[in-house]
Amino acid sequence: MFEKILIANRGEIALRIQRACRELGIKTVVVYSEADREAKYVKLADESVCIGPASSAKSYLNIPAIISAAELTHAQAIHPGYGFLAENADFAERVEESGFVFIGPRPDTIRLMGDKVSAKETMLASNVPCVPGSDGALPDDPKEIIKIAKKVGYPVIIKASGGGGGRGMRVVQKEEDLIQSVLMTQTEAGAAFGNPTVYMERYLQEPRHIEIQVLADEHGNAVYLGERDCSMQRRHQKVIEEAPAPGITEEERKKIGEVCAKACKKIGYRGAGTFEFLYEKGEFFFIEMNTRVQVEHPVTELVTGIDIVQEQIKIAAGLPLQFKQKDIRLHGHAIECRINAEDPFTFIPSPGKIESYHPAGGPGIRVDSHIYQGYTVPPHYDSMVAKVIAYGDTREQALARMSIALSEMAVTGIKTNILLHRALLQDIEFNNGGPSIHYLETILPTLKAE
Ligand code: ADP
Repeated sequence: MFEKILIANRGEIALRIQRACRELGIKTVVVYSEADREAKYVKLADESVCIGPASSAKSYLNIPAIISAAELTHAQAIHPGYGFLAENADFAERVEESGFVFIGPRPDTIRLMGDKVSAKETMLASNVPCVPGSDGALPDDPKEIIKIAKKVGYPVIIKASGGGGGRGMRVVQKEEDLIQSVLMTQTEAGAAFGNPTVYMERYLQEPRHIEIQVLADEHGNAVYLGERDCSMQRRHQKVIEEAPAPGITEEERKKIGEVCAKACKKIGYRGAGTFEFLYEKGEFFFIEMNTRVQVEHPVTELVTGIDIVQEQIKIAAGLPLQFKQKDIRLHGHAIECRINAEDPFTFIPSPGKIESYHPAGGPGIRVDSHIYQGYTVPPHYDSMVAKVIAYGDTREQALARMSIALSEMAVTGIKTNILLHRALLQDIEFNNGGPSIHYLETILPTLKAE
């Protein structure tokens, strides 16, 4: 096992990884930007190294500075968290070339999955069901593109192969708009991702977002840890996640889970990963794979009892998984609300000093957060400041506990979206379970009015 790990991230996930390391008896090095100098988790780490100014381009994305920090502190491995460099194959490669262990998949796997066209081709070859669409990248010939769209069936969605974060996508309703939309998406993708390649998929009308968590070691073992429903989204960004997904049967879970575990073995996947699917009318359609730990991993931890971050570390250390698929059982239900420093209804970010903070607590409540009274939320990064996770024997109990927790939780000095979550928890459709990815946005105007 490692003696010392460097955490190349910030905020709640930097603290979460630190806690996992502590439990495993591993020392931690946290890197930080000048804007995060005073953060408590930076002080809690065994060692900390400033890697640059507030701007993430000069700090959390500064590969040479991070590698130097690892050299300076004699760390053996680097955990990238999520966001920043977590899915940057060049970073993973540099880490390994410099003699450190990258806590994640091999660089070539990250590269393969980071390009959506190659990811989809790989999945199709591994019998993972995908959204019907073009065979790979779209050709240049407009006539060919029109033919493909006809075969796929309108509406279609044009997606950038290098896209991410909900950007680089355009829905096309009819043939007249097709070619112009393709050209526009290509231009945008070239500018935003440095790769103008686009592909086409059928645009699913009312899907749910359901994803499968997997763990795979270097010894050919791969397991799935059930699914999460992340359909409550705004602008393709997840707001609430839960496990298990309401209404998914044991049989469906097993079928899609086994497909994912098999695909992991086929591609020689290493570490924790997530297969993201759109789910419509009882069918799963792969959209992309995330080759890192996800924000919403705690809901899976609560229903499986498996610490996903500790497993990532053990896998990176070369240890075989200590459990088989039959050992993994789901118990109860877990829900996560992402608490952001933003106006609950206009979504305008609200960085600043936290004047007072009363965290949530009580039976079945877990709060993953780095904030405290007197902490200043910097304006430079993602606005998520806490994750409140509620566990219950049943979904109803988890929902009730979440409502109580959020009714008690109070943050002053900055605005947060706690009010939005309180309103969503009252919503009947959400309470019934299983709304589509569009649902949250359709009810937003009514929530604002109340
Ligand atoms: P990103 O990497 O930018 O997150 P994804 O491919 O994961 O892109 O898609 C993000 C979101 O876009 C999905 O969760 C879904 O809401 C929507 N989406 C993507 N593909 C389709 C599709 N074929 N039909 C309908 N919605 C889609």
